[in-house]
Amino acid sequence: MTHAAASTTAEGTRRKPLIIAGERIRLGQKRALRLQFGETYLGNPVTIPVYVHRARKNGPRVFLTGVMHGDELNGMGVVRHLLVEDPPKLLKGTLVLIPVVNVYGIERHTRYMPDRRDPNRCFPGSATGSLTSRLANALFTEVVQQCDYGIDFHSAALQRTNYPNVRADMRDPPTAALARAFGAELVVHSKGPRGSLRRAAAGVGVPVIVVEAGEVWKIEPRVVAVGVRGALNALMALGMVRGEPEQPAFQVAVNKKVWVRADQGGILGFHAKPGDLVREGETLATIYGIFGREQTSLTSPVNGIVLGMTTMPAIAPGGPAYHIARLPKRKLSQIQRKMRQRPKVDPYQQVQQDLATSITIQEQ
Ligand SMILES: [Zn+2]
Repeated sequence: MTHAAASTTAEGTRRKPLIIAGERIRLGQKRALRLQFGETYLGNPVTIPVYVHRARKNGPRVFLTGVMHGDELNGMGVVRHLLVEDPPKLLKGTLVLIPVVNVYGIERHTRYMPDRRDPNRCFPGSATGSLTSRLANALFTEVVQQCDYGIDFHSAALQRTNYPNVRADMRDPPTAALARAFGAELVVHSKGPRGSLRRAAAGVGVPVIVVEAGEVWKIEPRVVAVGVRGALNALMALGMVRGEPEQPAFQVAVNKKVWVRADQGGILGFHAKPGDLVREGETLATIYGIFGREQTSLTSPVNGIVLGMTTMPAIAPGGPAYHIARLPKRKLSQIQRKMRQRPKVDPYQQVQQDLATSITIQEQ
């Protein structure tokens, strides 16, 4: 993403006044807003917290969203860092920070909304629809449609963890540019599920990428570090923040993923951790019978890299154990070389160590 490309989008024709939650935010202003989309049974307003920071100079408008799924808190950590700990100095443009989208889900420690819907399947939503549809509509019309780019932060589903990766429609050049600029090692190509924020945003010409990292109910420091670095990389590429983007040791595009599932019930002994390279036929885990006598191996059906895995050390037939991003065999040795050359302070190396600290990884 070159500066020139960024400024064409940003300083082109669609610079209407920025009005969110009924408030006009002018250049050079910072505003903490409450975007209402519903009411409680007692008639109190239910709102999404939205922080808007505008530079003095016009430029791209970028939104960052966390906690779309109410139990995925890492994104709140990333947004909080940029909001409170270390707010970036904006040279131009507008940063819209939304620490929590699913304000109901976070209160109840659940992914879903109270009407049992998944908010990330209800975009673009409707002002007259269900509760979740109204939440989606408020975010979509007041934030997404007034922005030029977006990054939506997620974590793995319950009882799983994800090696940090970006999900993006790599066939759309501006989205692909944003995905590359973020600087994750793994970029998984997909359009996103129907009704997801990023797919609906693509429908109105706003490139949005998803970051998947870590597990639920935690703000993991090194996952946050990776998220903050990626967000700043993207802002630098857009010319909104001063500095040179930090490149990952390698970056690969992933087109296919495969879940490795158990055929037996038992206790799991893990041999591979998130971010590990695995070869076809390599043993990922051993399933032990409860007395330890029976043992079966779970092997990788493909060459690839561990994108995610279960954190639950017991499994039943059909249970997902490992999520493998498939890679061509020749890429594997290239990546292996580059992984060995990663500096000690490499954030991906560090997050890989952290993600594996609460899981027993056994040598085979
Ligand atoms: Zn999610």
